[in-house]
Amino acid sequence: MVTLTPRRPRIEGADAFTVGTGFHRALEDGRIECTVCPRACRLREGQRGLCFVRARQGEQIVLTSYGRSSGFCIDPIEKKPLNHFLPGTPVLSFGTAGCNLACRFCQNWDISKSREIDTLASEAEPETLATTAKRLGCKSIAFTYNDPTVFLEYAADCADAAREAGLKAVAVSAGYIRPEARQELYAHMDAANIDLKAFTEEFYRKIAFASLRTVLDTLEYLVHETDVWTEITTLLIPGHNDSDDEIAAECAWIGEHLGPDVPLHFTAFHPDFKMRDVPPTPAATLQRARRIALDAGLRYVYTGNAHDPEGQTTTCVNCGEALIARDWYRIARYAVSDSGQCDGCGADVPGVFDGPAGDWGPKRQPIRVAPPSTTRAPAHDHIPTHRPEPSHRP
Ligand code: SF4
Repeated sequence: MVTLTPRRPRIEGADAFTVGTGFHRALEDGRIECTVCPRACRLREGQRGLCFVRARQGEQIVLTSYGRSSGFCIDPIEKKPLNHFLPGTPVLSFGTAGCNLACRFCQNWDISKSREIDTLASEAEPETLATTAKRLGCKSIAFTYNDPTVFLEYAADCADAAREAGLKAVAVSAGYIRPEARQELYAHMDAANIDLKAFTEEFYRKIAFASLRTVLDTLEYLVHETDVWTEITTLLIPGHNDSDDEIAAECAWIGEHLGPDVPLHFTAFHPDFKMRDVPPTPAATLQRARRIALDAGLRYVYTGNAHDPEGQTTTCVNCGEALIARDWYRIARYAVSDSGQCDGCGADVPGVFDGPAGDWGPKRQPIRVAPPSTTRAPAHDHIPTHRPEPSHRP
């Protein structure tokens, strides 16, 4: 039996995984618009949005994946990636299904593009998730694999439960979200890694089916209007977003609008989903991008998905000391005080530091938070989306 008890009121006649949302508005033509992201899906009764997990039911938009997950895993926090947030500690990571972007290069497409709600075999209410994370020694929980924007209500409730248990909450997101929903989601978060997928509107329009401007707004909001510790990731895709000019423009914008202390990760693409004809990112491209960023004045620039000890080292900007040296996700050297100062010169290191570094290492450990139910909630796999997919969408 499904025993899930959402922190939110149930909807009469709906399954245990469906909850109401506050993000919708009625239109004159009878449709209801979802106001979570700029996609602004306008739905008639029974239709689902492009993200597939939000749907119209009656006069509201509901979330249909509350408490359901594609699985749970304990990862090193560096894998999110977050290099300045509780270094070396384990984080309980999970995602659900669906995404509000449509990136042709998606590296998690089996989850984010899933329309099979029944594949969400794991279920967990927020308290169970938080107590499990704490029992297993995690310092935080992370909403990742797919974008928490689309399961905002579940992410917010899990984050609250995590905080009540003394843990922190991390969002890994593309940042494609409208201001009101953004304010609600990040009020519950302690850290975020935002994908800055490229630095041209053309890339966002043609390859991610989204807009760069919205993502930049999210970054400015997080850095200037919240206490959420924020790092940025750019996946470099050969021939698509890896030119010197584009990387330089991105770094100049970050320096000018966010400041030089926001960490930036350049990570390597591997051929996947609708971009199997593009080669993997060479290590030299990551190092070239890092050099451009450092020359632009950014202070904490990392390479990822490639073995590059230099590109994975945090250096003190005051005395040049190697503060945190990493070998993949293992911390090889740690010279930061418990409260975040350089051991050599005492300069503050930007980030969130709380005690000594963790020793989780590179392990990735799948876990079970709750036994799968024997009785599945009804899935709605054949409800049509609100409009035909555009031709450039995968
Ligand atoms: S894609 Fe999902 S979150 Fe975005 S507007 Fe449509 S239904 Fe809402």
